[in-house]
Amino acid sequence: MAAIASNVTPNPIPNTNVVVLSLRKPLSCTFASNSRLFGNKFIGKSLSASIQRKRSDTARFAGLAPINASSSSHSFDVVIVGAGIIGMSIARQFLLESDLSVAVVDAAVPCSGATGAGQGYLWMVHKEPGNDKWELAMRSRKLWEMMAENVQQQGMNPLEILGWKKTGSLLVGKTPKQSAMLKRKVDQLSEAGLRAEFLSSCDLLLEEPALMVGEEGGAAFLPDDCQLDAQCTVAFIEKANRHFASEGRYAEFYHQPATSLLRSGSGEVKAVQTSKNILYSKKAVVIATGCWSGSLMHDLIGDSDIHLDVPVKPRKGHLLVLENLNSIKLNHGLMEVGYVDHEAAALDSSVSASGPVHAQISSISMTATMDAWGNLVLGSSRQFVGFDTEIDESIINCIWERAVEFFPALREFSLRDFRESREVRIGLRPYMPDGMPMIGPVPGLSNLFLAAGHEGEGLSLALGTAEMVANMVLGNPGKVDHAPFALESRSCMLQ
Ligand SMILES: Cc1cc2nc3c(=O)[nH]c(=O)nc-3n(C[C@H](O)[C@H](O)[C@H](O)COP(=O)(O)OP(=O)(O)OC[C@H]3O[C@@H](n4cnc5c(N)ncnc54)[C@H](O)[C@@H]3O)c2cc1C
Repeated sequence: MAAIASNVTPNPIPNTNVVVLSLRKPLSCTFASNSRLFGNKFIGKSLSASIQRKRSDTARFAGLAPINASSSSHSFDVVIVGAGIIGMSIARQFLLESDLSVAVVDAAVPCSGATGAGQGYLWMVHKEPGNDKWELAMRSRKLWEMMAENVQQQGMNPLEILGWKKTGSLLVGKTPKQSAMLKRKVDQLSEAGLRAEFLSSCDLLLEEPALMVGEEGGAAFLPDDCQLDAQCTVAFIEKANRHFASEGRYAEFYHQPATSLLRSGSGEVKAVQTSKNILYSKKAVVIATGCWSGSLMHDLIGDSDIHLDVPVKPRKGHLLVLENLNSIKLNHGLMEVGYVDHEAAALDSSVSASGPVHAQISSISMTATMDAWGNLVLGSSRQFVGFDTEIDESIINCIWERAVEFFPALREFSLRDFRESREVRIGLRPYMPDGMPMIGPVPGLSNLFLAAGHEGEGLSLALGTAEMVANMVLGNPGKVDHAPFALESRSCMLQ
């Protein structure tokens, strides 16, 4: 199906808004198989290739960077670089909560980064009450629930539109030590105000007959936890954003990487130069480019007198999607306790629990969900292998073997049985060494904001992040303390 291409009008006068919607592949959420459009390795590969190529000839930032005479220029209040879940949610927030005009720029299309691979859980079960991300996660969860309710109130089905399911979540353990830890976790989560329950192995069998944890095992159960489909949700947000295009408040600039920033003599960021356009911004430029944010920021400000290190690194993840598997039906979303350690494991530290797969830089932990179409989605891996997005069959084998340890019915099959009916999704999580996303103004560059580094929680934290960024730009009081996410308070940031 042809994509939208309307009003592609160059605007040499920076203060007039122009609606630009550029060509892209359409997203459909009607069939599970369509998710392959963005789930296969080739999108990611071509994306990283195009970025590499661009970077080598990127115009360096130096005060007012040279402007390509053939570029078209357009003007907006806010220019957002990156159309993953973070960038698209930020655009939505500005459009809904203000009268500002917004442009979204992407090197490729929405969901071509980590977002397109995401498993879709928005769970609290593995999160730590009281830690610095807790309030943001709670706020985000509330905003997600409001979005799903809103969809419902508009007469649509959140399952069809967002892949939304309130399945509840189970954090499962097999050993007495893990069960004791899970009981403490349930107490903590209950004290934090969530409905939480410890399930013994017998109770667990009733809830989840396909799961085997052994007599000593158990689970922390959060019945109110929800999941969504990342690609459907981004498609929904994008469609809603496009409603503002007719008012001249929204435009998309896809397939055009940002290459430099233009700034005034006083240091204010004035515009984003993409490979095709100059996008002037009156109020804010927001960089939301996931795992590319570190290198992009380096490229954007490389030759300036500002020394900034955004230490976001790509952390590769594989997911295995098995279609039409009738022998296993899950009632809830599941995750093994080892996931928590793996997520938090630092780049240089060793990984324990279910064990490292390759040296100390890779780990596998079992996650299992059923998507909106009844496919079994098995995860997940974590690897530090740069920007590589090739399928690694040895990792897929490890994901499979780990799942077999929890779901004995899978022993009837071999991975080869799914050659025709499997999908592998790969994404690069934006990993931060201190485990905290960076959200806030970039010191020394007024009008420039960063929202990146959400690692394995970008879907769950997206709406709270978007609200935080918009409140900062608009000067509104925040709902959540932004200090823990600020760039200047992180020792790794300013040198
Ligand atoms: C296997 C896997 C499973 C996951 N499961 C979950 C889950 O269940 N729940 C959860 O909360 N999180 C999950 N995550 C994490 C989540 O997907 C990420 O945290 C989130 O998608 C990050 O979103 P983002 O918008 O920051 O980055 P991305 O989605 O990576 O988007 C960044 C965008 O920036 C664009 N870009 C890059 N460079 C440029 C440039 N120079 N100019 C313009 N654009 C550029 C890219 O094209 C891309 O579209 C999972 C991740 C993986 C890999």
